[in-house]
Amino acid sequence: MTTGNINVSVENIFPLIKKFLYSDHEIFLRELISNATDATLKLKHLTSIGEAKVEYGNPIIEIKVDKENKLLHIIDQGIGMTAEEVEKYINEVAFSGAEEFLEKYKDSAKESGIIGHFGLGFYSAFMVASKVEIITKSYKDEPAAHWTCDGSPTYSLEAHDKTERGTEIILHIGEDDTEFLEDFRINELLVKYNKFMPVPIKFGTKTETLPKPEDAKEEDPAPTQEIDNIINNPNPAWTKQPADLQDEDYKSFYRELYPMQFEEPLFNIHLNVDYPFNLTGILYFPKLGQDMNLQKDRIQLYQNQVFVTDNVEGIVPEFLTMLRGVIDSPDIPLNVSRSYLQADGNVKKISSYISRKVADKLNSMFKNNREDFEQKWNDIKIVIEYGMLSEEKFFDKADKFALYPTVDNAYLTFEELQEKIKENQTDKDDKLVILYASNKDEQHAYIAAAKDKGYEVLLLDSPIVSHLIQKLETSKEKITFARVDADHIDNLIKKDEETISKLSDEEKDALKVDLEKVIPADKYTVQLEAMDSNAAPFMITQPEFMRRMKEMQQTGGGGMFGMGNMPEMYNLIVNTNHELVGQIAGTKTDKKKERLIKQSLDLARLSQNLLKGEELTAFINRSFDMIK
Ligand code: ADP
Repeated sequence: MTTGNINVSVENIFPLIKKFLYSDHEIFLRELISNATDATLKLKHLTSIGEAKVEYGNPIIEIKVDKENKLLHIIDQGIGMTAEEVEKYINEVAFSGAEEFLEKYKDSAKESGIIGHFGLGFYSAFMVASKVEIITKSYKDEPAAHWTCDGSPTYSLEAHDKTERGTEIILHIGEDDTEFLEDFRINELLVKYNKFMPVPIKFGTKTETLPKPEDAKEEDPAPTQEIDNIINNPNPAWTKQPADLQDEDYKSFYRELYPMQFEEPLFNIHLNVDYPFNLTGILYFPKLGQDMNLQKDRIQLYQNQVFVTDNVEGIVPEFLTMLRGVIDSPDIPLNVSRSYLQADGNVKKISSYISRKVADKLNSMFKNNREDFEQKWNDIKIVIEYGMLSEEKFFDKADKFALYPTVDNAYLTFEELQEKIKENQTDKDDKLVILYASNKDEQHAYIAAAKDKGYEVLLLDSPIVSHLIQKLETSKEKITFARVDADHIDNLIKKDEETISKLSDEEKDALKVDLEKVIPADKYTVQLEAMDSNAAPFMITQPEFMRRMKEMQQTGGGGMFGMGNMPEMYNLIVNTNHELVGQIAGTKTDKKKERLIKQSLDLARLSQNLLKGEELTAFINRSFDMIK
């Protein structure tokens, strides 16, 4: 038996490990299973190139909890270590065995998917264990070794009688970490970190029911057998070629990833690059309706099939973090701060690659099956619109397939929309006037009025639409958006001939004075307009700009301080060509005039949903009185 001192730097490492990584204690298991997986894949590689003359077989990794003795075992059937290798790889901490291995087998090792550095590695065992043992037998014809260390820099190393190839790590779980002796806790960790690792992982056994034999009686119980409980799927869909996968395979992988998610994804994007960085993965577009799992079921980041995190901020463009699925890349630096991550060249490339792939996929869906794309639009628009706002390159691509639904359920591209309205929807500066509604029911009267005139009205109802409109107005030439209840369309859209006013200028001036006596000036600006006699007599509108700025502020538009505190101001548009307005102008008694104006104002407010509370009650009572 030898004893010795571990490289002096370890003295500093142990307290560091314990202190700073306290919150992340649980990762020790991921690290040890990663090592076991590495050891197994290394053996696979060495047998495949004929360097190890042993049978590879069907190796598994086994996790065993021995609650009574407070032990946790991690057992693999991999490459193992000789005593000399234990000295070298375990004791000389700073020396990375994986690095040397990779150096030696650099080119041939790539395809075998050997897991590289993972951060803390083996020594993370000391986060939860007061003592760690390694019993290991190399694939080479040498005796097994038994290493023991109690967390101090002294260790012992002696021979062991283990005969099967591979490594067993035994953790003597410390007082503060007995949670790791609970089956459910270990199971939880295995599912979280190791669900898709490339070597089968066994944790306990389970009972399997076998088919009844032919001659069994009705009352005979079905025979059962105990089988290994394998917790992982070593060949997850993203590691396969897209050509080898059917639609159903993608869907069942989605269910595997998110067992609590019952809604099927809309479609998926298979990512697969090996230059200038390595990345594989599958992204799913979920239905983003009233989904409460938005925060829970997130994109998962893996490194060579080992779960790293489900916080992909900085790696996946922000507008795509609403998607689901996995990405797997050995090229993403781990255990570094988010800000460092965002500055990393590879990570930047990965982010823009993902964004480009998503745009390309959407574009091909739009081109190949427009009808289907239109059907999905309302479920995916929020992601696309958000992308258009946040990334110039995505905007340019999405501009070709982003859809603008009309209130009549036609889905137009921006170009098609422009083409459609260029004849009769321009303003006095020859800008195209794009009319839109945000709510079909609330703005019904305004939509109807616009449609009556033969105008096209879009239905833009996503929460960030005011930002998108602002963006479109600045990046496109000669267009302007107006909500149907914003400015009166007759005022907005250039007409070939002017409507002639039925009232003379004097009559109009007198009417305006009368109106302003009754209508509160702090809320309404009275505007007399000569419109079609069929148009509403009184109509309340809110200036487009002001409403939009307020909306943008509510949904997080920067730089518009104080807009939210501005008083609600409206326009009261009075149609001087309407019969009722003529009547009001001609009414002799002031009292009657006032009553007519009040009632008209209330009706206009009612149609904009602005009449509420006490005023609404008074209006209703007054109306009953009128008809009784
Ligand atoms: P890393 O894996 O990053 O190299 P570790 O501290 O986790 O760092 O492990 C150090 C070395 O010990 C590994 O590179 C490997 O050579 C060896 N090793 C660790 N665990 C095992 C194992 N289960 N089987 C064989 N060798 C192992």
